[in-house]
Amino acid sequence: MSGLPISRRGFLGAAGAAALTTAVPARHEVHPRFPSPDQPIAISSLNGLRTVAKACELAAQGVRPVTAAIQGVAIVEADPNDISVGYGGLPNEEGVVQLDAACMDGPRHNAGAVACIERVMHPAQVAELVMDRTDHVLLVGEGATRFAHDHGFPDQDLLTPRAREIWLRWRASRSRDDDWLSPLGEETTNADFERLYGTIHCSVLNSDGDLGCCTTTSGLSFKIPGRVGDSPLIGCGLYCDNEVGSAGATGRGEAAILSGGSWLVVERMRAGDTPEEACLYVLRRVADQVQRQQAWQPGLWNEEKKRPAFNLSFYALRKDGLYGSARMLGLPGKPTFTVCDAAGAREEAGAIAFPD
Ligand code: ASP
Repeated sequence: MSGLPISRRGFLGAAGAAALTTAVPARHEVHPRFPSPDQPIAISSLNGLRTVAKACELAAQGVRPVTAAIQGVAIVEADPNDISVGYGGLPNEEGVVQLDAACMDGPRHNAGAVACIERVMHPAQVAELVMDRTDHVLLVGEGATRFAHDHGFPDQDLLTPRAREIWLRWRASRSRDDDWLSPLGEETTNADFERLYGTIHCSVLNSDGDLGCCTTTSGLSFKIPGRVGDSPLIGCGLYCDNEVGSAGATGRGEAAILSGGSWLVVERMRAGDTPEEACLYVLRRVADQVQRQQAWQPGLWNEEKKRPAFNLSFYALRKDGLYGSARMLGLPGKPTFTVCDAAGAREEAGAIAFPD
C-alpha cells in the first residue's frame, strides 16, 4: 500500500464504481412487474393539494422526484396558516419553533435530514443539502441551524403572532398552581388544547419510474425541547426504495418510530401488498404494539372501543404508479390524502383501520 492519504469517499468511489458496473442490472430488469407510468404521480397528506400539483409539474419538467417533492412542500412550509409545518408552526413548550425534515432520493438510495432546527423556514431544503453536500444523513439542533445559515438560508423568526397566542394560552391553561393566567373571562383547561400533530409528506414518481420523497413538520405542538419525531428519521416518517415504492407518515410520530412504519410499508409492497394494504398492515401492527404499551401509557389505548386513541396515517406510492393511504381513525369516505396524476390534483379518501 502506498503511504499516500486516501479519503474514504475516494476509496469507496473507486471500489464502488467497479462494483456498480458489474452488479446492478438495468432498472426494468429488476422489477418488470412494476412498469413505469407515463406521467409523474405525487401523493401527499391532506394539507398537500398545492404540493402534489407543484411536484408533478416539476417532475414533468425533468426535476428529480426528491427535489420536486421538496419544492412542493415548500409552499406549505412558507404558509403561516398551516400551524403544523415550517413558518407559523406551533412551538415547543418554551415557545421556540423547532422543525424536523427529511428527504430521500430513490435512484441514488441516499437521504438527508435535520432535526430540531430553528429559525429556518425550509428545513426540507436543508435536508436536501445534507444529502447532497455531506457524507452524513442527519444533522440536529444547533449544528443543523448553523449548517443552514452557512449555506445561505436566512435567519428567520418562525413564531407568528397567531402561533405565539396559541402557545401563551396553552401555557396559561396548564395548571392552576402556577402563576400564568388565562385572559380575563376565559376559563380554559389543558383539555381544551388538544396536542396538535400535523406534518406534510410527499412522495413523487416520475415517468422513468424513479422515486423520491420528503416529510417536513414543526412536530408535536408544545413538545419537550429537543424532542425529535418520526419525520426526520429515515424508515419512520418516510422511506423509499427505487425498486419498489415510496412511503411516508403523519400523526403520532412515536408510533411511526416504534414500528419502523414507513420502511415496513415499502417492504410490504415489495412482498406483494397494494399500497393501501401495506398501510393498513402497518397500522394494525401499531395497534398490536400499543396494547403492549398501555400498562405504562394507558392514554394511548381506547379500551372501550378496543383501538388506539391517537391518529396515524401512512401514504404509499408504488413504482408502477399504484398509490394508496390508510389512517388509524376517522370516518370512512372522508378525504384523507391528496394525489396528482394525469387527471390533476385532488383529494381522495383512504382506508381507515379502525373506523368511527
Ligand atoms: N409525525 C409528526 C411528529 O410526530 C407530527 C405529525 O405528523 O402530526 O412529529
